[in-house]
Parts: sequence; C-alpha cells; structure tokens
Amino acid sequence: MNAVRSTNIVTPMEAILLRRVKRALLGATVALATTALSLGILITWPNPLFAFSLGSGKISVASDHPIPPRGGERVLRDCERLLERSPLKAKRSHYWLYVTNDEWRQRLFFFPQPERWGFAWYFGFGGHAFLSGADFETGRVVHWGYVGTPPRTLAYLCAHELTHIVASEHVGLDRFHVPQWVWEGLPDYVGIEKRETFDQLHDALGDDPVDIPMRVKYGSYPRYRLLVTYFIEQKGWSFEQLLQTRLTEDEATKIMRADEKR
Ligand SMILES: [Zn+2]
Repeated sequence: MNAVRSTNIVTPMEAILLRRVKRALLGATVALATTALSLGILITWPNPLFAFSLGSGKISVASDHPIPPRGGERVLRDCERLLERSPLKAKRSHYWLYVTNDEWRQRLFFFPQPERWGFAWYFGFGGHAFLSGADFETGRVVHWGYVGTPPRTLAYLCAHELTHIVASEHVGLDRFHVPQWVWEGLPDYVGIEKRETFDQLHDALGDDPVDIPMRVKYGSYPRYRLLVTYFIEQKGWSFEQLLQTRLTEDEATKIMRADEKR
C-alpha cells in the first residue's frame, strides 16, 4: 500500500497574503467592537449630546435644538396622560425622551434603522426613548423632512416608545419571546389618542388580511392594534396576559376570525 505523503500546498507568497488577511480581519473585528461599545455607551448616557432640556413631571425631554416651553410642556403633558391611561404601570418615577433634530445626530443614533421615527433603549435597570425629530409647536414628528400626521403625533410617539420601556420593566429578558403583534400592538394601543373600539377598527381595516395602502403608511401597526384590541375588548385579556402569550400573529388572527364567523 502506498503511503499518502502530506505536502505543503501553500506557497510563501500565499502564506504572506493569508497573514495579511488574518491581520486585517482582526483589525476590523476590533474596530467593529469598539464602535459598538462606543455607541452602547452613547445611547445609554446620551445627555452630553443634548444641550436643551425641559420637564418637571414624570417625563423630561432633551433635545439638540431649543425646546419651545409651551409646545414642549404640552407634548409632555399629553404623553403623560396617554401613559397614565395604560393599565401597564410604570415602575420608575422618571423617564427621558431624546430628540435628534440635527442630521448627523439622527444618523448617529438611528444608524441601524434610519427609517424609524423613534426607538426605545432598555438596558436592564432602566431605559429611555429616542425620537428622530420634533416640531413641538405643532406636536408633530419630523423625520427626514417628512412631517408625521395624526394620530401618530409627538405625544403618540412619546407614549409608544415609553410603553416599550415600561413593558420591558415588566417582562425583562422575556421581551425576546413576546410576539411582534403584541410588542408593537400594545404601544400602538396606548399611544393612539382617540382609540377606536374593536368594531370600529375592524370596519376601518376591512377583512383583507393585507391592507396595502395602510401597510405602506403605517407598517403592520393597525393590524397589530386590531389583534390587541380584540383580545382586550372581546376576550377580556389583561396587558400582562398579552405580554405572556406566545400566540403567533397567524394563530391570533385565526382565533379572531373564528370568532367573527360565529
Ligand atoms: Zn414600537
């Protein structure tokens, strides 16, 4: 039997190239980790980047642009009222909302998903919310030059994002097991000023499972809210029960549709 001899098939030139690639990869990993860490620190302690602030109640707002006192206080008051209406009670006594009006600040804080109007940042023992831009006088969100329209106002967005924080306080790491229709449907339900009943919302959305124009404008939020409203109003579920459910959107929709046929 012939013995198989192992031969070195890497030429010296290839070995040099391989070393360079390895070094470049290591450098890129370190740069990426450093960027992620810096962004994590910045997002957890953003105050130095926001020169203006306002608020004396449960919520304060910080912004990179001056905040008109009357408009700013009105938005905070409305946001607080929407949150107080929520059966999911806040565990902390104070919350911060950060508004990024300048383009570079908006790019920095929203770079993973620049299309978002806002996001909530929860770090285990607390959290705060970021909005992409604000006109406090009119109470509207300003996102890359686009002005948001009611019912998705500044107060709505403030209540929506802070509800994510409050929900995180209640479920902790289980948050990653909460189905998306509950995770987004609950804050949408809390934030909408003139909340429709299940029947009203059902009629407005129609029976079509995919409502294209509505989805283009608001994503899946109206559908999520319809499901959440159904389980709260028709099934008598509490917010806690909703946060504990593991029903998928399809399963929840099937239950709702089966009920309609009765
Ligand atoms: Zn959300």
